[in-house]
Parts: sequence; C-alpha cells; structure tokens
Amino acid sequence: MSDMIPAAKPIVGDEEREAVDRVLRSGMIAGGPEVAAFEEEFSALVDGRHSVALNSGTSALHMAFLAAGIKSGDEVLVPSFTFAATANSVVLAGGTPVFVDIERDFFCMDPEAAEAAITPRTRAIMPVHLYGHPAAMDKYKEIANRHNLMLFEDAAQAHAASLHGVPVGAWGVAGSFSFYPTKNMTSGEGGMVTTPCPNIARRVKLYRNQGMEKRYENEVAGFNTRMTDIHAAIGRVQLTKLAGWTKQRQDNAKFLDDNLKGVVTPPVADGAVHVYHQYTIRVVDQDRDAFAAEIGKRGVGSGVYYPIPNHRLPSYGLTMDLPETELAAQQALSLPVHPSLSQADLEKIVEVVNAVSSAGA
Ligand SMILES: *Cc1c(COP(=O)(O)O)cnc(C)c1O
Repeated sequence: MSDMIPAAKPIVGDEEREAVDRVLRSGMIAGGPEVAAFEEEFSALVDGRHSVALNSGTSALHMAFLAAGIKSGDEVLVPSFTFAATANSVVLAGGTPVFVDIERDFFCMDPEAAEAAITPRTRAIMPVHLYGHPAAMDKYKEIANRHNLMLFEDAAQAHAASLHGVPVGAWGVAGSFSFYPTKNMTSGEGGMVTTPCPNIARRVKLYRNQGMEKRYENEVAGFNTRMTDIHAAIGRVQLTKLAGWTKQRQDNAKFLDDNLKGVVTPPVADGAVHVYHQYTIRVVDQDRDAFAAEIGKRGVGSGVYYPIPNHRLPSYGLTMDLPETELAAQQALSLPVHPSLSQADLEKIVEVVNAVSSAGA
C-alpha cells in the first residue's frame, strides 16, 4: 500500500553518495583512512573512549567478549527480551548466556533479577539499552563492582542515549553499537566497540584482522570482521546527522506521548536520555497482533520486537519463568517514530491508534 507509514526508514542522501564515490575513486576500498577517521569521530559520542569499527554489531559484541577474555564455562547475564545477537555473541565467544527477566517500565534487564542470577561461574553482565532507552547502568555498575564482574553494554539500538550524563557505551569494559540500516544511524552494515581500555581496543583489532597487528605475525586465531572504507565513509556522514535525527525522534515521541490514548506509552527513567530507536507501546486491553493488523489496514505500519523471547527460541529452547519477558513479548508494539515522519504522519498515527484502541477489546 503506497500511503502506508513505514515502521522504519533509513535516510541516505547526496552526502553519503558523494562520500562513497570519493572512496571508490581513491582506489583504497578496504579499511584505511576512512575507518580510522570514523573511529576517532565516534569516540566523541562515548566520552573519548577508544572506538574500533567492525563489519557488524554482532561482530562488535563477539570481538568485545573475546578481547576481554570471556571463555568456555563463563556465564554472562543477558536479558531474554532482545534481538538474538545479544545472547548469540556470548555463545560465539564460548560463554554461556544466562537469561534474566526485564522490568515493567523500560523493557530493560531488571537489576535485582540480574543480581539474583549470579553464580560462582558468572563473569560478566551485559544489559541491553533496548529500544534506545538506557538500562539502569548506575545499578549495574554497583552490582558489577560488588561481585567483581565485567560490565558490557549492548548499545546497538542506543547511539547517543545516556544516563545521569554518562553516555551509553562509556559505562563498562566494552560497549557495542550497530550500524545496520534500521538503527538510528547506518553505515550499510557495521558495528563499533567502545572501551576505556587500550589493551581491549588492541585485542579487538587483533580479532577483527586474523590476529595480526604486524602483518604475518599472527598473535591469536582471529577473524575477518573488518569494516571497509566504503562503509566507514557512509557512517562518518551519518554521524554528523545523528544529533538532529535524535532530536527529531524525541520530538516525535513527545507528540505521541501527549496525544495517544488507550495504550501504555513508554516512560523515561529519571536521569535518562531516551533516543527512541523504537517508540514501543503496550497494548493491554486487546490482542496485540489483531491491533497491529488493524492499524496496518488503516495505513500505520508497526513492528513486533520481540515476539519470541530468546530463552524460548529453538536455538536455546529453555523452560524458565520470566514473567515480565513473556508479558512484554505479548504486549509490545513499536510505532513509527523515525525522523522522516511529517506532522501529518504523526497526526495520522495518533488518529488511527486512538480509533483502534477506543474500539476496544
Ligand atoms: C541490531 C542489534 C544487534 C546486532 O547488530 P547487527 O549490526 O545487526 O549485527 C545486536 N543487539 C541488538 C539489541 C540489536 O538491536
């Protein structure tokens, strides 16, 4: 349907096209000066932490775990209510994800539930800043200190979000970002590890490049998870636009907050800056999937993230009791909030959602 308001819409303009053309004409296509510049520029977003660019957000998570020494037998606490890459990256590094429930308001991992899940094998905690809302990192920092655990962040959805003035990606030993096309900024595909530790940055660089710092003097068995200069050039342009797009997402969210009725709109924690990767409501009085189908019929796209929590996916197949996770998997519905929405689009979203919610169960 041509007049459907899409749930997500990557924005790519002439500047990105020109940047790619510049790289193609230079003859240097693999990782080089554009990647180095992108890393340097991205560090400004994370209070000057080291940044290392990878070919995806999944690689960023994976290489960060390897670089920090996560290994077989190590348990890493992660939420179950997230994209599969969160837990998969623990497995890829040889560790064991231990799934933790979320808290009701912000859809992020519950710090109390996380602390209760700690065992003698627990090595690390990795909250996810889900939908662009920062997880309770102040509490996680305390828990990590108290139990001598490493603190990681899955910041794939949360570029430029912060809590109490500290940006996501700057709280722990390593943060990981994604530049997949639907994220708040894109490089085509891509990811970034951010870390305060020069040694972890060096080791991420080793793992992304076959284990080599010096050519043919491989130090570890590594991967090819490098970013190309083509992707970095796109990412650099997008980074300059991120602040404006984030403001637009926040303004769009405010309009929806102020005008939606009959659904639970997403609250923001004290001291948190939410960057609204998704604007996720809860549909509580009606069947969520029927609700989504009905607003779709009336021209409003939406997304269900995530209908099957990780612990119940065939890849993990665990039976555990995570009641808030199960509830969110049934109720969460993400409405369009992306920066390309017009005022007319926003008004249509409100009109359609309010009409469908008031039509009732
Ligand atoms: C997108 C995403 C990832 C993975 O990033 P890719 O760039 O797609 O590999 C990891 N975690 C979360 C929470 C994500 O949303």
